[in-house]
Order: sequence, then C-alpha cells, then structure tokens
Amino acid sequence: MPHDTPLIATIVAGLGLAFVFGAIANRFRIPPLVGYLIAGVFVGPNTPGFVADAGLANELAEIGVILLMFGVGLHFSLKDLLSVRAIAVPGAIVQIGFATALGAGLAWMLGWSMGAGLVFGLALSVASTVVLLRALQERRLIETERGRIAVGWLIVEDLAMVLALVLLPALAGVLGGQEQVEGHSSGLPSLSASYGVWGVVGITLAKVAAFVVVMLVVGRRVIPWILHYVAHTGSRELFRLAVLAIALGVAFGAAKLFGVSLALGAFFAGMIMSESALSHRAAEESLPLRDAFSVLFFVSVGMLFDPFSLISNGWPVLATLAIIVIGKSLAAFVIVVAFRYPIATALMISASLAQIGEFSFILAELGVGLKLLPEQGRDLILAGAILSIVLNPLMFLAVDWMKPWLERRAGKTAPLDEAKPIGPATEPGQLASVAAPVKEDGPPPRTALTGHSILVGYGRVGSLVAASLKKAALPFLVIEDADKTLAKLRDDGIETVSGNAASSEVFAAANPEGASRLILAIPNAFEAGQIVLRAHAANPKINVIARAHSDAEVEHLKGLGADTVIMGEREIARGIVEEVIEGRAETAEEPKAPIT
Ligand code: AMP
Repeated sequence: MPHDTPLIATIVAGLGLAFVFGAIANRFRIPPLVGYLIAGVFVGPNTPGFVADAGLANELAEIGVILLMFGVGLHFSLKDLLSVRAIAVPGAIVQIGFATALGAGLAWMLGWSMGAGLVFGLALSVASTVVLLRALQERRLIETERGRIAVGWLIVEDLAMVLALVLLPALAGVLGGQEQVEGHSSGLPSLSASYGVWGVVGITLAKVAAFVVVMLVVGRRVIPWILHYVAHTGSRELFRLAVLAIALGVAFGAAKLFGVSLALGAFFAGMIMSESALSHRAAEESLPLRDAFSVLFFVSVGMLFDPFSLISNGWPVLATLAIIVIGKSLAAFVIVVAFRYPIATALMISASLAQIGEFSFILAELGVGLKLLPEQGRDLILAGAILSIVLNPLMFLAVDWMKPWLERRAGKTAPLDEAKPIGPATEPGQLASVAAPVKEDGPPPRTALTGHSILVGYGRVGSLVAASLKKAALPFLVIEDADKTLAKLRDDGIETVSGNAASSEVFAAANPEGASRLILAIPNAFEAGQIVLRAHAANPKINVIARAHSDAEVEHLKGLGADTVIMGEREIARGIVEEVIEGRAETAEEPKAPIT
C-alpha cells in the first residue's frame, strides 16, 4: 500500500465482511445482523488476521446512531412524544430501577463493590437505540402507538444515561472508585468538587433544558429558513447536503455544547425538520447512508467481543443474559399491563427493550476508567450485549407465539384490552369496527358486510375513491395501516379494518369471500400483487381493480389476475391533455374566460 489508510481499511473490511456474513446469515434464515456481528468478531483484535481500528469503527458506528435517531425524529412530532409520556416516563424509570437492582444483586454475588454493582446494573438497564429502531423498522411499527411508546421509553432511558454519565465521575469517590478520569470528555468531574452532587444534577438538567429550549425557539425558526433558502437555489445536491449538515451539526453541537447525547441531539434535529413538508423527502434520501452506518455499528460491537471470554465466564454470562432478556422484559411487561395497555403492546415493548448496546459500553468503559467496575464486569456487559442482540429477533418470534396464549388467559381473568388511556377513542353511535382500536389488539373483528367493495389504502387515491363510493351509496370498507390515516377514517365515519392488507388475518376480516370487488389503491405493486393472489384464493369471482405506476407494474398485476389496472402516470397525462385541448377550445371561443 502506498500509505497507511486505516479509515478506508476499516470501512471496506467492515462493510465487505458484513455483506458476506449478512448474506450467509440470510441464506440460513438468520437475521443479517447476526452476520454483521460475526464480521466484527473476524476483524476484531480477538481473532487472528486483519485487525480493523476499533476507535474508528466506534466513531463510524456513532454516525449510524445519529442518522438513525434523526430518521426517527423525522417521523415524530412533539405531540407524539408528549402523548406517550404518561407511560414512557414511569415505565423507563421503574425498569431502570429494577434492572439496576438485579445487576447489583449479581455483582454482590460476584463479590464486587457497591459502586461496581451500580455501574453494572445501570449498564444492563439501558437498551440499544440501533437494535430497537432496526427491529421496529423491520416490522413497520415505528408509526404505530406501540412504536411511539417504545421510542418515548428509549428517549427517557437516553436522558437517564446522560445523567448517569455525568454523575458517575462526581460520585466515584463516594462509591469507592477514583474521581478523575483521564481524557474523559462527557463527564464534569471538576464540577463535583465545587458544586456537590446536587449541583451537578442541576447543571446537567439545566443544560438539557437549555438545549430543548434553543431547539424549539431558535432551531424551529432557523432550520426551516435555511432549508427554504437552499430550496430556492434549485440545487438538489445542496439541499441534501443541507439536511445532512443540519442533522450531524445539531447532534454534534448538542453533545459538545450542552452535554446531551448525540442521539438525542439528532432526534431533535429530525423532529424540527419534520414540521416542514419540504424537508421530509430530502431527509428520506439520507436513508441509504443511514443503513450503511448502522451496519458498521454491529460490526464495531462484534469487534469488542472475545469469544473465549464466554468459556472462562460461564455462569456469570448466563446470569447477565437472564437479567437483560428475562428480568428487564418482565419488568416492562408488568408496567405496561399495569397501565392497562393491551397485552400485545406490552409484549412488543418488552421484546424491543430486551437487549443492551452502545450506552452500556460507554458506561462500562467509564466504570473501568473510574476504577469502579472490574474488567470482568466489562467483559460480562459485552458478552451480554452480543448475546442479547443475537437473541432479539427470537424474542419477537417468541412474542408472536405467546400472544394468543396470554390473551386467552387474560380474557378469562380480566378484560385487559378494554381500557386504553390513549389511542383511538370510542364514540357512542359509531360503527363497532370503526371504533375498535383493532391494530393493537390481535385479530381485527370480521365485517358483517357482503356484496361490498374492499378498498385498500386511504391515501391520495383511496380517499377520493371512497368519497365517490359513499356518494353512490355503494357498500364498502377500507383496509389501511397508517395510524394517522386511520384517525382520518374514523373522523370520516368509514368502516375500517386496520392493518397491513397483505397479512392474511387482516385481509380475512374484510370478508373477501362475500365481497364483489377489490380496489387496490396502494402504490406498491409487489404488495398489491400479493393481495390479488390472496383475494382470488378466497373468492375466484372477485373483480379486482388495481393501481400501478409503470407498464411493468401493469403487466405484473394483470399477470397475477387483476381485471383492470389503472396506470397513474397515464391518467395524469390524460388529464393534462384534456386540459390543454379543452383550454385551447375555451381560449378560441371565449378569450376572456377566467383561468382556473
Ligand atoms: P397514497 O399513495 O397517497 O394513495 O397512499 C397510499 C395509502 O395506502 C397510505 O395511506 C398507506 O398507509 C396505505 N397502504 C399502503 N400499503 C398498504 C397495505 N399493504 N395495507 C394497508 N394500507 C396500505
């Protein structure tokens, strides 16, 4: 090599091996992230051969965290965040308390100090942003109520960890460690001497509050202004660059100036950008970058792992894993059910939080640096993280498996699913299937309609179709899966089955056997094709009208049995042509006709 290029080598080795092992994992029907972790172990210092730069890999992973949280912020509004505070705040606090107590118990059994127990317990109590968001994204859950609770919960945990990172150096002396850490930047060790512990807590909270206020007051004006300005230049490249620069800039500034975590800063940047429709699209374009960097996150975790530590640490590793996977899940489940949420919601939240990741590593490093945590503690945290991340997809499978059983039992003892503090409200006189918050609560109730039309999707196309069907007094129902659109359907008083129409349970609830027509008003032709097949299996005589956006899609859908396929772009052209021809006729006949 002409010169040393550790950054390039790390990116190439990381992405390249992650691809190879990810593809192998996929081949064996294992989630690809397991492959990414294995790739990490291979380029890590604990296995022979090429060793990537762990420091660089970590920083690259941080960019992944920033972009992921930015993306989540884009789909969140302040209202969404506040709407889940009643469950997210107490939930996260009780869960952190419980997991910390369990961790401290294990530490005590291993003969560690009280300080070690506290750091160890805290590290086990906080879930990984990347793992949680990837899991929610894969299952299209981010924009559901359950997803919002999980993200709100994560943000509270994030804030708690920001406090913990600042407080530990201050408390290290009291807890039996040493106060100063060389080169540690996120803590405020020197402050503790002059202000005391409560002073440090106060300063930290004041900084977080200052950041939020600055974002809501200044950011809310400046960010849209910058975006509008750049949009006027007409350069798409500059616009994308502006979005990326703002996301990374706000995250970095939040961390450096306000001591807030990078993830939290990015989340706020995204949330503010989501208020402008203009930026939404451009921001979505940052997604490929986001995915690439979040892969590097898993690689960097794999790098830290020493497979041989599993053998030397046998039972403590298993106990650590049990705390993360079983202890934390049980705590979350009990809390969510205690707040009278449906069992499905409680299970999903438990599964998504049953893992640990980046914050735990940072806490472990800090604990070791402060001489609070023995090195064995860090090894256990790492092993627990790797194993819980690998097991996480299995947790979701287990949840699907346990749900019907638990719901049956709950149905016998208490009507848990009846009261929901938030979510769709039932208004007297509304159609039962309209009012039911079906999406969160297992299989949706089956419609009583027959000879009806099933309309899939209530967006730009579907809502117009529905209005005409209503006007013509034709019986119909809508299948829709976005929460916001569901609320609109409820307001419009239209019978709805909520959920993904491609799922057999959801589609069956629309009574396809008794329906006369299926109208597919969704933009994704692959999904639409799957629904056509399902419909024909249930009712070979059903008439299918579908929507497409290219000739290839028209062919695909017709090939699968759709009777009529309307190609959007062709209809737009037809509309334009009509306008031009009619417009020309009008101008010729009545030159003074008003332009509409
Ligand atoms: P538009 O492209 O504006 O007509 O919106 C399409 C609508 O269809 C959106 O409201 C989506 O939430 C909804 N949608 C897309 N795919 C599905 C699906 N598989 N099941 C139910 N609704 C869907």
